[in-house]
Amino acid sequence: MITEKLKEKKATKQGMLSNVMRQFNNASDKIQLNSNIRKILEITNNELVVHFPVKMDNGEVAVFTGYRVQHNNALGPYKGGLRYHPTVDIDAARALAMWMTWKTALAGLPYGGAKGGIQIDPKKYSTAELERITRRFTYALGDNIGPELDIPAPDVNTNPQTMAWILDTYMSTKSPNERSTNLHVVTGKPIGAGGSEGRDRATGYGVFLCIKFWAEQNEVSLRDKKFIVQGFGNVGYWAAYFLESEGAKMIGVQDASGTLYNNNGISVGSLAAYQNATGALSGYTNAEAIPGNDFFGLDCDICIPAALGNQITEHNAGDIKAKVIAEGANGPTDVPAEAMLLERGITIIPDILCNSGGVIGSYYEWLQNRNGEIWTLEEVMEKLEKKLRTSFEKINKVVGERKVDARTAAFIIAIERLEQAYLQRGIFP
Ligand code: GLU
Repeated sequence: MITEKLKEKKATKQGMLSNVMRQFNNASDKIQLNSNIRKILEITNNELVVHFPVKMDNGEVAVFTGYRVQHNNALGPYKGGLRYHPTVDIDAARALAMWMTWKTALAGLPYGGAKGGIQIDPKKYSTAELERITRRFTYALGDNIGPELDIPAPDVNTNPQTMAWILDTYMSTKSPNERSTNLHVVTGKPIGAGGSEGRDRATGYGVFLCIKFWAEQNEVSLRDKKFIVQGFGNVGYWAAYFLESEGAKMIGVQDASGTLYNNNGISVGSLAAYQNATGALSGYTNAEAIPGNDFFGLDCDICIPAALGNQITEHNAGDIKAKVIAEGANGPTDVPAEAMLLERGITIIPDILCNSGGVIGSYYEWLQNRNGEIWTLEEVMEKLEKKLRTSFEKINKVVGERKVDARTAAFIIAIERLEQAYLQRGIFP
């Protein structure tokens, strides 16, 4: 068993790392996880920090810091996104890498977990600078990533274009014979560069599907249900798009630029067009601008945090009116807030299920590249729905059998899969 002292040390660490460790410890205690396997899983396998120089548009050289943390690969190659954000540091990368391990294990994918990124605010750089930063970062990562070793994907502030630059840079370092067999070194690529149909919407569609499964389970219709979305990037946008197409209404939306409210509903398509034109949500006129702190207290049925971690805390959990929180982001609800919400009977669809459509979509892209196949959008979406439904049902079963909350159930399924792999294989030598 992990010692009390070690538990305490983990718990005092601030932010997402403390959150994921507490979630892991809680589930491991419930199943009395084998103490040797616990020692392996509570620490990351590899951690890479790179400092690399990039020529800026003004001729100056700037040095950037990038991270890639590989938590575990017992079930397959490391897998997880690259994030460009000022909050990226080694602890954030560790926490997010751990969540990837639990996410891929829960989904039954042949992957482990990794995460990384660069500590920058990409808004401060030109497209040409972002391209050079991305290419130089890829070069610095070198053979620490690879199609059968560690496969990055988009995350906060990275997108298909970023993946295309990574692919091109990685391929350029390989011998001609190897180049076209390396397409699956990254997923989330543009379709023309080896991407898959449906990967763009996979995460948001998965968030929507989880809400749909929840509605089916509770025998409620999504028509006229009010929802709020924090983050109107790839995840928030697509989740809102699919909910709106089922007749639900987006009454509140927030991004780094501001918070919008309209009780009659904000059109997802019109807001997306405004965001594409201006780069932000603020200034949109068909809704009222309200103070950011009022966002989580808006009167609604469904709340979708789809931005950053630790957004729902003990300071605002009491304000939440929604009946269900669908975690599009990684780690949006901290542990004390979760206890308060569960106490109030609010359902939380945990991140490692709720946003797993993204990595499942990535897996389909990777398989197509690896096998030289091209699937249709319908095939991808159908497979995705089936897989997510399986995870949703598995979690419900464990909730019923073990009398635990959904997050703990999701962690138990993931951890037991890893435990079994280690017990069967043993530890070398
Ligand atoms: N960044 C996404 C996540 O957090 C996707 C990762 C992937 O597709 O590898 O799940």
